[in-house]
Amino acid sequence: MSNTPAYAAVSAGAELAAHAIERRQPGPHDVEIAIRYCGVCHSDIHQVRDEWGGSVFPMVPGHEIVGTVTRVGDKVEKWAQGDTVGVGCFVDSCRTCAACEDGEEQFCEKGMSATYNSFERHDDGTLDRSRPTYGGYATRIVVDENYVLRVPESIALERAAPLLCAGITTYSPLKLYQVGEGDTVAVVGLGGLGHMAVKIAKAMGASVTVLSHSPNKRDAALKLGADDFVATGEENAFDDHAGRFDVIIDTVSAGHDYNAYLGLLKRAGVMVLVGMPEPQLISAGSLILGRKRLAGSMIGGIAETQEMLDFCAEHDIGADVEVIPVQDINDAYERMMRGDVRYRFVIDTASFQAD
Ligand code: NAP
Ligand code: ZN
Repeated sequence: MSNTPAYAAVSAGAELAAHAIERRQPGPHDVEIAIRYCGVCHSDIHQVRDEWGGSVFPMVPGHEIVGTVTRVGDKVEKWAQGDTVGVGCFVDSCRTCAACEDGEEQFCEKGMSATYNSFERHDDGTLDRSRPTYGGYATRIVVDENYVLRVPESIALERAAPLLCAGITTYSPLKLYQVGEGDTVAVVGLGGLGHMAVKIAKAMGASVTVLSHSPNKRDAALKLGADDFVATGEENAFDDHAGRFDVIIDTVSAGHDYNAYLGLLKRAGVMVLVGMPEPQLISAGSLILGRKRLAGSMIGGIAETQEMLDFCAEHDIGADVEVIPVQDINDAYERMMRGDVRYRFVIDTASFQAD
């Protein structure tokens, strides 16, 4: 008994197509959300194409979800019908491990229930492998009330959707490494994550340089608020800017030489990988000379995601989006692979009515 129109890939690399799914009836602690918009993240492409291994099919991607609460379970205290809410990259976790206790549910020791390509949980907190999760390329979703975010009214809804992944993924390391006035930050890759990193790092007070693989995005980067732009494909780019940055946020989805970028860090600077291409070789010398640090970061916990949404509202930050009907999703993936998006595709769920 399927009750929810969605778009799914039925096997690795398959085109997405209309595919009805079954959502559970809201339980006592659940919130049912009519999805209004869902952002399209490069992680959707990696997982649909099974580039990280272990993908579960059929797969309904989408983890940048905003919408309106339509029903709540009788024990729900935080939400009411009509609330404007968001759902990000996970919909549950064990709630008892050290990471969950620390509000870092994304690192749940029993494995978070990712919003899609993952599983719901048994009552004891373990993953229930008979119940896959399905994401936001759908008309509605049912989520435990503790994994729902409040979307500030001042951010246009379609511009808020990408904050649920691209926003928190860049906010979290910028905050952790205490980026602020006087810091020089480089953002590598000006896509969905990269453009959010520019806006957030600027709002934190840093001087921001975009490092892009071609010269094409120079004007756009400066218009977004970046202070400087470097086309990394140009001769001498890595020599000319050696030792310049306190923090580098690397959002690139394709393989590239991390050693070269580490050369752009100041002494004891930190480069944070958030983009997840195939494995790359790192030479110890790139870190040892200059006591440099290489780190990774993955989205953020629920409390920090709410903090990021409120920060964005306070600083008048939303994503720059191109709204598309869901029927255009395969074309949108191809355009993202070509870097032809400024800077996030967002699916308008009203378009499902056309199928
Ligand atoms: P996106 O919008 O497609 O942007 C990726 C950017 O990488 C492109 O705009 C491009 O920037 C650069 N790039 C792409 N192909 C390249 C190539 N062949 N050579 C050099 N540069 C290239 O992707 P996104 O949604 O921002 O996601 C970026 C990455 O972050 C993905 O790997 C995604 O899975 C990952 N991600 C991680 C997390 C996390 O929690 N860690 C969360 C979300 C996403 P330029 O044109 O400016 O060079
Ligand atoms: Zn994402």
